[in-house]
Amino acid sequence: MEQLLKMETKIVTIGKNDSSEDVEEKLACAGCVIRRGGLVAFPTETVYGLGGDALNPESSRKIYAAKGRPCDNPLIVHIADIAALEQIVCEIPQTAKKLADAFWPGPLTMIFRRAAIVPHQTTGGLDTVAVRMPGHPLARLFIRKAGGYVAAPSANLSGKPSPTLAKHVVQDMDGRIDMIIDAEGVEIGLESTIVDVTGEIPMILRPGYITQKMLSGVVGAVDMDVTIYDSSSAQAPKAPGMKYRHYAPKGELVIVEGEPQKVVRYINQQAALHEAEGKRTGIIGTEELLPEYHAASVKNAGSKSDSTTIARQLYTFLREFDDEDVSYIYAESFAETFTDYGFGQAVMNRLLKAAGHKVIRV
Ligand code: AMP
Ligand code: MG
Repeated sequence: MEQLLKMETKIVTIGKNDSSEDVEEKLACAGCVIRRGGLVAFPTETVYGLGGDALNPESSRKIYAAKGRPCDNPLIVHIADIAALEQIVCEIPQTAKKLADAFWPGPLTMIFRRAAIVPHQTTGGLDTVAVRMPGHPLARLFIRKAGGYVAAPSANLSGKPSPTLAKHVVQDMDGRIDMIIDAEGVEIGLESTIVDVTGEIPMILRPGYITQKMLSGVVGAVDMDVTIYDSSSAQAPKAPGMKYRHYAPKGELVIVEGEPQKVVRYINQQAALHEAEGKRTGIIGTEELLPEYHAASVKNAGSKSDSTTIARQLYTFLREFDDEDVSYIYAESFAETFTDYGFGQAVMNRLLKAAGHKVIRV
């Protein structure tokens, strides 16, 4: 740990006005760091990733150390073209081929049987490997420059929300990794959908932007790990990382469900009580109800009809509440808002985890 904290972290900014030669050069330099066994945080369309050479066990060990991540929680291997997939998995099932055609590059991670070339340090000891081809063009160029196989979990300290802005990565990783690439284009704001394609029927292990409906539109039946929608299930989640409550704001977060006016009344009452005791209170509310809330910090989750706004900002809000020393946080329930059970399900999955499943019905 001591040694990690002494490191100098170089921040490389890639702007809209950079020439393509400049971008190539910066990413070649970042790629070189990876090839030499170093760590580079980079933007993807979902969240910032903390990259290392996926085929180098020492790089994976460094990733776990930098994040303070439990080493039974496997990393996702990021690739830039389909030829790379063939090198790191035993077989590519038909369903995976179809899903790759439809959703890669993009926010979909698939679980395959691991080829021996992928070290156990990268797969958390498993004989399967998670693979994703990110949609962000800079991410793919970086992966190519880095040798084609970049293991990357989210670039946050374990226990913090995934970073959606470069400043979040700096907060968590400055002094712990070699380089941070600061660029735009982290548009989704939630981690990728994870689908296990090793069984007969593909199974969603983590919901994300690519929904069950989108997947089954391409391959027919798609199952979902029961632990995603049933928090009381006695089963262990099939994605090892899903068992950790990874984003815990310092303040106590509660989700409030019910008729909009009742929700507003309840949240305002609670906020008034806390604030009378000198405790700062935060609220995450939809745009339509926002003017009715009264508390120290009120965050705009966007319109009721659009789940992408809250997805993009959820982790920023949780980090801001920490910075603002908020003791209590109330969030509207987006389960009732986004009834299509599309992307809203992924939003609720993350919010419920952050809240430790505390939900109040009013
Ligand atoms: P992160 O990149 O931080 O979002 O974490 C990667 C996620 O992928 C974690 O939830 C892991 O448990 C999951 N994952 C990675 N590899 C596998 C695998 N081989 N089988 C199941 N889940 C995996
Ligand atoms: Mg993560």
